[in-house]
Amino acid sequence: ASGLMNGKRGVIMGVANNRSIAWGIAKALSEGGAEIGLTWQGDALKKRVEPLAQELGAFMAGHCDVTDLSTVDAVFSALEEKWGKIDFVVHAIAFSDKDELTGRYLDTSRDNFARTMDISVYSFTAVAARAERIMNDGGSMLTLTYYGAEKVMPHYNVMGVAKAALEASVRYLAVDLGNRGIRVNAISAGPIKTLAASGIGDFRYILKWNEYNAPLKRTVSIEEVGNSALYLLSDLSSGVTGEVHHVDSGYHTIGMKAVDAPDI
Ligand code: NAD
Repeated sequence: ASGLMNGKRGVIMGVANNRSIAWGIAKALSEGGAEIGLTWQGDALKKRVEPLAQELGAFMAGHCDVTDLSTVDAVFSALEEKWGKIDFVVHAIAFSDKDELTGRYLDTSRDNFARTMDISVYSFTAVAARAERIMNDGGSMLTLTYYGAEKVMPHYNVMGVAKAALEASVRYLAVDLGNRGIRVNAISAGPIKTLAASGIGDFRYILKWNEYNAPLKRTVSIEEVGNSALYLLSDLSSGVTGEVHHVDSGYHTIGMKAVDAPDI
């Protein structure tokens, strides 16, 4: 991986702690030689992100709460001031009310539907629009999605609907930005125990189920997602855009429970 990102600069949005998928991506990009900016959501997370940024010599690009677009503007102004141009953006942001990540999708409230879509879908488009203005031709944008966009997963509910919309927006953005050689892709990660995932009902069961039934018979790590992100954000994937790339131990390929899988 060494040298793949030499001379490239960009921002990673969504590090909450050292278990965040965004942190796995930050480590892989840094090893590849990238210069990285990190954002954080609020003062409590700033305290966690600061030492992580130091570890990588990353730039603290600013507080960002995507429900307040002025904070997104401020982050991209800070990046422009620091570097002029950027080469990549990672969006690893999602939110839904925990009370609705359990039970029936049917019972989703209008308020939480709108909030989930705003934070988990619209924010990527809002970020892409701001990134476009300061991105070099040939840059790369990446977001994170989950198989619950394609198939019904227990408790994923409104977040599955949001991820389906996010995946569609990856394709539309890929067309809008393709004439500048800017690529837009998503990684569909298998389940990983993070802060956000802990809000999903029966998450431990979901992890076990994947472990027993995925072709690789295990779940994936944030480092593995990071390495695939390195491919999608580097010139190695220069011919790839509008793609949803599964990093899930192959889980999305299976049609039913493995016959030798133990009961959980
Ligand atoms: P995480 O809790 O470490 O990261 C989620 C991040 O979203 C946090 O940094 C949080 O600050 C940020 N965020 C939430 N609301 C925000 C807002 N209003 N403004 C700005 N930032 C906000 O969890 P994670 O699992 O690493 O999540 C990263 C991405 O990966 C999410 O899009 C998630 O849906 C996706 N994903 C996770 C899994 C999994 O199993 N963990 C699987 C597939 C996809």
